[in-house]
Amino acid sequence: MHPEFERIAPPGSTGIKIVIVGAGYGGLACAIECTRKGHEVIVLEKVKELKIQGSLGPNASRILARWGLHDRLWSICGHHHGLTLHNYLGEQIRYQEFELPSFGAYPYNGHRAEIHQVLYEYAESLGVQIKLGEEVETYWEDAERGVSGVTTTNGEVYEADLVVASDGVRSPARKYVLGYTDTPRPSGYAVYRAWFDAAEQGIDNDPLTSFFCVNGDVLYGWIGQDVHMLTASSKNGKSISWVITHRDDTPLQDQWSFPGEMADVLKIVEGWDPRCAAVLSKAPTCTDWKLIIHDPLPTWISKVSRTMLIGDAAHPFLPTSIQGASQAIEDGVTLAVALQLAGKQSVPLAVRTWEHIRYQRVRDAQLMGESTRDKWHQAKPDDRGEHLDLPRPAWLFGFDAEAHAYSVYGDVAKKMEEEGYQLPVLS
Ligand SMILES: Cc1cc2nc3c(=O)[nH]c(=O)nc-3n(C[C@H](O)[C@H](O)[C@H](O)COP(=O)(O)OP(=O)(O)OC[C@H]3O[C@@H](n4cnc5c(N)ncnc54)[C@H](O)[C@@H]3O)c2cc1C
Repeated sequence: MHPEFERIAPPGSTGIKIVIVGAGYGGLACAIECTRKGHEVIVLEKVKELKIQGSLGPNASRILARWGLHDRLWSICGHHHGLTLHNYLGEQIRYQEFELPSFGAYPYNGHRAEIHQVLYEYAESLGVQIKLGEEVETYWEDAERGVSGVTTTNGEVYEADLVVASDGVRSPARKYVLGYTDTPRPSGYAVYRAWFDAAEQGIDNDPLTSFFCVNGDVLYGWIGQDVHMLTASSKNGKSISWVITHRDDTPLQDQWSFPGEMADVLKIVEGWDPRCAAVLSKAPTCTDWKLIIHDPLPTWISKVSRTMLIGDAAHPFLPTSIQGASQAIEDGVTLAVALQLAGKQSVPLAVRTWEHIRYQRVRDAQLMGESTRDKWHQAKPDDRGEHLDLPRPAWLFGFDAEAHAYSVYGDVAKKMEEEGYQLPVLS
């Protein structure tokens, strides 16, 4: 193991100044790990109140546990020991047992806003400056002086050694980094999603839904032709969440998240196991989320290599991968290590090396999400067996982004110096 592994340095001790745009999972994780590794960080977030999506697999949760957050996170998350999968008629077709811990870490499946709040408070406790209500309008770089910066709609100017844009799937920074507008396309799918209190909505009083809250936390799935639905309880059966992924050919619009209509949700499960309509209809409100696709970007970093994209800004994820937030966290942690090992004089080298370390892995995780969706959506009602399991591969869940960055950074950076910087290529 590299001698620096898990080393915490006094904030600001590397002299590297970083402006992070966006306080989602990617931005906050990057801010936290950069502060732990001795860089000086400021986070600019346009909204005044944060509402974030994304549950965390063992590959990301091992990082949060390393930060000392396990007890708080575990107390607000679902403790799922397996996934009970049904066909649309309600016949059980598979029980997939989950090991807990899995690959040495506990997954965190809970209310995303609550998990995010724990990260936010931890960042604040480390002294990370987070400025809410600061919307970044323009990006700029000065190669000669070796700096980059941003200007906000409030007229504030922030300069740093590096600007990290973690500004989400609709990233305004993407155009600056690429030099052109990358247009997304509809995926042909949308999700309805809801989260609510079990007792308030009478989940325990209805024999069709009470099984979600009488025996602790459970995770149930139903699959039909081109549709799947997952429903989970958490906090010992007190909270319920569901997500239903279905065909949606609405053309791309400026907005892709809307309040959902329950009548439309229930139409999808007409003729299904009555437990589905029973639990869906208990949600007081739901969100209708159109899923969009961006083809892999050719690069995530600007020509000067002092402005970069991470998280969904660089590589948007479909929810079926259940990895978007985890990969955003891995991005931030890997970057913090790369900058620590490169030092202030070599920020562009650190950034280019980081891109090469991350590029193929992120793509593999994205593709896995699409193949799970397709596998379930094409399953026949009489399909049974292990091939229906959610994939839980060791390359994905057993991964430690921090340890990996320490172990490969030197070789990848050396290759980059010897051969010159090349755009990353997917295999
Ligand atoms: C319906 C749905 C369900 C999902 N479910 C899961 C799941 O279960 N598990 C999972 O891992 N992933 C899930 N994902 C994906 C996951 O939400 C994302 O991959 C993850 O949130 C990405 O984090 P991020 O930090 O890159 O971006 P975001 O969380 O989107 O954060 C971007 C931040 O940047 C801010 N911002 C944007 N522009 C500016 C600006 N100009 N100036 C300042 N701030 C700005 C935004 O306000 C926002 O706070 C889901 C996604 C969707 C759409």
